[in-house]
Amino acid sequence: MLAYTYVSEGNFQLVEKPLPKLQGDRDAIVRVTLASICTSDLHIKHGAVPRAVPGITVGHEMVGIVEAVGKAVTGVKPGDRVVVNVETFCGECFFCRHGYVNNCTDEKGGWALGCRIDGGQAEYVRVPYADQGLTVIPETVTFEQALFVGDILATGFWAARISEITGEDTVLILGAGPTGICTLLCTMLKRPRQIIVCEKDGERLAFVRRHYPQVIAVPPEELAQTIAQHCPHGGADVVLEVAGTGDTFRTAWQCARPNAIVTVVALYEENQVLPLPQMYGKNLTFKTGGVDGCDCGELLDLIAQGEIDTTPLITHEYPLEKIAEAYELFENRKDHVIKVAVRCGMYS
Ligand SMILES: [Zn+2]
Ligand SMILES: [Zn+2]
Repeated sequence: MLAYTYVSEGNFQLVEKPLPKLQGDRDAIVRVTLASICTSDLHIKHGAVPRAVPGITVGHEMVGIVEAVGKAVTGVKPGDRVVVNVETFCGECFFCRHGYVNNCTDEKGGWALGCRIDGGQAEYVRVPYADQGLTVIPETVTFEQALFVGDILATGFWAARISEITGEDTVLILGAGPTGICTLLCTMLKRPRQIIVCEKDGERLAFVRRHYPQVIAVPPEELAQTIAQHCPHGGADVVLEVAGTGDTFRTAWQCARPNAIVTVVALYEENQVLPLPQMYGKNLTFKTGGVDGCDCGELLDLIAQGEIDTTPLITHEYPLEKIAEAYELFENRKDHVIKVAVRCGMYS
């Protein structure tokens, strides 16, 4: 089968590999229908993910059809249409039992697919702990609608959930990239009083204004003025930092009102400064970390009910044979790209 492979730093190639086989009783093999490219794939390409293993198939955001399951798998069966979770988790350790699946202590746990083990930018993928890692897609939901459930939409949902948003709140979201928009969609479900989105890229700003006219979308240079106008208590009630570039960490806490929650979703490439003397008395609560992606079933239900629609994010589609072109487009942000769907196999 064809598999897009991390050969060495800076070098991904589409290579022929043998079909994956079940290795344990809790494994499943999934025939991938659609995969997507994530910024984390680019981090691997650029050597910024030291635990990524050369030779592995990349890709951790995909949907498909179950081909085979191990003896101990009970939640899915061959023929099921499924979402694959970005995280591998055992479902049994202390952290899994508390819903903190990102911190699963199992040796196979964590971000494994497309990083430490073969991922899904391929025709087939082996998924360990299939009962945890696969979620059946409702009949009325298409593969396109479900494509982001296991990674960026799970991240947005988790971020909105831990931010304790109420109907009284003005919520500020920094960044309107793919994960920022997913965070926006999940924040809208909480029905806060007002949402402000700040994004420096003009095209992304226009995307938010076009699709979500009820949201106030501003560039960074208009943010202070917008906060002053809409936030009577000196800042936003909740801030979600999904940008992770330049000064956005500082912007996040500066734009928060006293006693606000600041949720950091962004993955920084450098250390950030937490100037406690300056923020003394502001009594902020920071929440940080990686997604606990254990709400995929709930997300798929919300999609089936029409409460969430991420299909506008799919701006381009490529067949697996042309995945290198898809990367070129995504990496260089050409042609107003937001997300690319890579068609890995035939399906009706
Ligand atoms: Zn990702
Ligand atoms: Zn676990």
